[in-house]
Amino acid sequence: MSIPYPNTKLFIDGQWRDASDGRTIEVGDPATGMTIGNVAHASRGDLDDALAAADKGSRIWAATGAFDRYKLMRKAAELLRSRADTIAGIMTLEQGKPLAEARSETMGGADTIDWFAEEARRAYGQIIPARMGGVSQFAIKLPVGPVAAFTPWNFPINQIVRKLSAAIAAGCSIIVKAPEETPASPAELIRCFIDAGIPAGVVNLVYGVPSEISEYLIPHPVIRKISFTGSTPVGKHLASLAGLHMKRATMELGGHAPAIVFDDADVAKAIKVLSASKYRNAGQVCISPTRFLIQDGVYDQFLDGITSAARAIKVGSGLDPESQMGPLANERRIPAIEGLLADAVSRGAEVTAGGRRIGNVGNFFEPTVVANAPTDSRIMNEEPFGPVAIVNRFSSLDEVVDEANRLPFGLASYAFTRSAETIRALGLRIDAGMTTINHNGLALPEVPFGGVRDSGYGTEGGSEAIEAYLVTKYVTEMAA
Ligand code: NAD
Repeated sequence: MSIPYPNTKLFIDGQWRDASDGRTIEVGDPATGMTIGNVAHASRGDLDDALAAADKGSRIWAATGAFDRYKLMRKAAELLRSRADTIAGIMTLEQGKPLAEARSETMGGADTIDWFAEEARRAYGQIIPARMGGVSQFAIKLPVGPVAAFTPWNFPINQIVRKLSAAIAAGCSIIVKAPEETPASPAELIRCFIDAGIPAGVVNLVYGVPSEISEYLIPHPVIRKISFTGSTPVGKHLASLAGLHMKRATMELGGHAPAIVFDDADVAKAIKVLSASKYRNAGQVCISPTRFLIQDGVYDQFLDGITSAARAIKVGSGLDPESQMGPLANERRIPAIEGLLADAVSRGAEVTAGGRRIGNVGNFFEPTVVANAPTDSRIMNEEPFGPVAIVNRFSSLDEVVDEANRLPFGLASYAFTRSAETIRALGLRIDAGMTTINHNGLALPEVPFGGVRDSGYGTEGGSEAIEAYLVTKYVTEMAA
């Protein structure tokens, strides 16, 4: 299948444009290793233009009524749906994931736009009873102001659409620093807003060196709020920069999710749901199940089942409709995962499925299962961010809760059990932002999405998500 791949420009103040100094960054196809196009690399001058545009756009958009913002967003969502097949092809070329996953991500993006469009109409303030007659007291919700958003390559549309939709719905302008590895599908998302009629300056799109852009935008007086998705070390750095300059921040960072299967679980269902969740997007998912903690009585059954499931996955180019798992998006993840596996094996772990790179063209890696990795092995402590399931055993509820909460991460957690008592205990005792039991019900637009501890703060879903882009202002008035 041959799909044309577009070069990507910057979008600043309502115009698609090259970088002012003409610089570009090459974009590669992770399935072939070939260069497929390029993306404009913003200069300092381009960033200044984006900041001036966002400043202007913020005033225009804050003065636009919530109902008009809603109508424009619904139109953008419809455009995204109607273009999903084309956009999915572009995403697969640059990111590697199977076409079906790319299409579903794009369609899910449209649902997210709809959700936030509707929430914007319900950003209610309060009238607060006054102590004195003749006084009226109001708490009103106003847009926080221009937003800078930094997003990674694993979900090129989904990572942006959560921040963009919440910001636009709330009445903020935004500068999106989208991923340089996967620039063209984000540009198509932005194009839907442009074609729906978004005024110049409200949405701006830049690419370049991530650290240079974040270090320039975050302290800049125009920017009032930042949102970042990526690794914990980078998130801590950006959060400290935001703190230094008193900027509001949302941080969606790394995870190392426990997936707990109890003796009383429907083990066949656990294998089916957890293997699908593990190998989706080749495991490059912050909420991916990673530490599979299996109770003694079903350990062998689960290990056999997930090993067979991993071996049965058809790995290949995402453009091949038969492929169930594509390449890793970045070649640098291959030595990283190999290092984690070698360390685990040297400490006594056993690889029961996969464990190796596939061929020498593209970034393909076998769906992998590693059993009995000791607690002090690196893989039990560092996020593998790839197609690796670690399967270890446990005996008691207390023991597994301790292991689940051992790491500083606290993003997603999974469990399978038929006991109502265990379900209730897990909901209360697992120290994670999200817990899904007997199914995978995470990451819908209408439910909270976010972590605790080193996995960050703030939610990017549910009714609280729009609050991150609003300020509450108090106004009191006395009849003159
Ligand atoms: P990385 O830490 O180099 O980069 C992660 C993301 O942050 C990338 O999109 C990158 O462009 C961006 N980034 C890096 N430094 C930045 C800076 N100073 N300012 C602004 N943005 C910056 O790691 P990587 O090799 O791209 O990915 C591997 C690790 O990143 C994984 O182990 C995982 O922990 C994390 N990650 C997490 C998510 C997520 O969904 N939470 C997504 C992608 C990567």
